[in-house]
Amino acid sequence: MSEEKLTPRAVDFSEWYNQIVLRAEMADYAPVRGCMVVRPYGWALWENIQQALDRRFKETGHVNAAFPLFIPMSFLEKEKDHVKGFSPELAVVTIGGGEKLEEPLVVRPTSETIIGYMYSKWIKSYRDLPVLINQWGNVVRWELRTRLFLRTLEFYWQEGHTAHATEQEARQETQRMLDVYADFAINEGAVPVIKGDKSQAEKFAGASLSASIEAMMQDTRALQAGTSHFLAQNFAKAFNIQFLDENNTLQYTWTTSWGLSTRFIGAIIMTHGDDQGLVLPPRLAPIQAVIVPIFKSESEAASVMEAVTRIQAELKAAGIRVKLDDRTEVTPGFKFNDWEMRGVPLRIEIGPKDIEKGTVALARRDKPGKEGKSFVPQAGLAALVANILVDIQKSLLERATAFRDSHIFDPKDYAELTQVVQNGWAYSYWCESAECETRVKEDTKATTRCIPLDQSNGKGKCIVCGKEAEKKVYFARAY
Ligand SMILES: [Zn+2]
Repeated sequence: MSEEKLTPRAVDFSEWYNQIVLRAEMADYAPVRGCMVVRPYGWALWENIQQALDRRFKETGHVNAAFPLFIPMSFLEKEKDHVKGFSPELAVVTIGGGEKLEEPLVVRPTSETIIGYMYSKWIKSYRDLPVLINQWGNVVRWELRTRLFLRTLEFYWQEGHTAHATEQEARQETQRMLDVYADFAINEGAVPVIKGDKSQAEKFAGASLSASIEAMMQDTRALQAGTSHFLAQNFAKAFNIQFLDENNTLQYTWTTSWGLSTRFIGAIIMTHGDDQGLVLPPRLAPIQAVIVPIFKSESEAASVMEAVTRIQAELKAAGIRVKLDDRTEVTPGFKFNDWEMRGVPLRIEIGPKDIEKGTVALARRDKPGKEGKSFVPQAGLAALVANILVDIQKSLLERATAFRDSHIFDPKDYAELTQVVQNGWAYSYWCESAECETRVKEDTKATTRCIPLDQSNGKGKCIVCGKEAEKKVYFARAY
């Protein structure tokens, strides 16, 4: 790790982000343009994200399976909106084993088609429904402008695909999984998100309705952090996913799909990071607490190392993900910077004076300098550390929520809207016409992010055209 300072967020947010990803060793650029290598520290974070989500998927009745990476080109062509939306981003294999293939194979950009095909074979009767399958995997979308974690040619994600007997059940599933994503983002990632429906222009290619969770990054741009789609019978009709209902009548199923990707790592970085580096929420952090021993002489070393080894074991036994940094080739000061860059929530320092007094020094990553520093007894440390981690998690969510709420505006007219979206989000009435949506996009680069379900504010006038509008929508520049 370089000891150079990061470019501050206020100077160049995008450069700050790139430097953090590289210097915290989350990911690196691959030899193929637009691809990323996820390094062990980034992957450990992803594994914790996976576990937190997977637990929620299982609790809501889903099971995991694995479908192939290659999809026959003809499958994509069966759903017209789907192929239209994904065509520009497809990677296509035309040669296999040295021979030209009879039918080109698409490297999956998403798996509705191949899973729909399999469902048509597996689903025969209402007794086979619902089918609630998730897969963890990777997909390829040939993006032109790429950023590590945020937009890469290949990325890792989960995609859930479900089939139901009724429209109502499929709509409920779409909402249930949106709720699961929001619960995960807020309570595990400490990333406050807003749930809502996408506009027709912003929905998934092939969906009847898409919903998303939207998060505000520290540069006030929005990041779509997870999506859930109600596919109606679009894919069921394209792939003949039919079943005999209780009256022995042949019916098409209703399907959904939902996904959350390694993009969420980008959301964590840009929600919590500071000018010293990453700041990770304790519930997802690969390392929750790092112990840094401090000593000069050999005799000091013996007693300090005895104490840190014992404390490490105590914390580990209490279920805390703890690391002892016993490197001898670097100074404690270097270690402090190093772990700050990597966003470890809590640092525990132990030196000869602490041995004498039976204490340790704690430094919270979320509160730099004196504010986050405390000196506490070694006795009962594990319980105290566990409590502090809970408090850090809570304070990160509070800070991010306060930041977001102070950057959401209710502009009084269109002129003001064009101003506020330069450094925030506008929450405004919109008549739901594509014309008004396009005008905002052309004038400001801000897009509609989502239409929240709760519209208890009643009717108003479209911020763009002044016509009567039923709903309010968030407008923001987005990643
Ligand atoms: Zn309008």
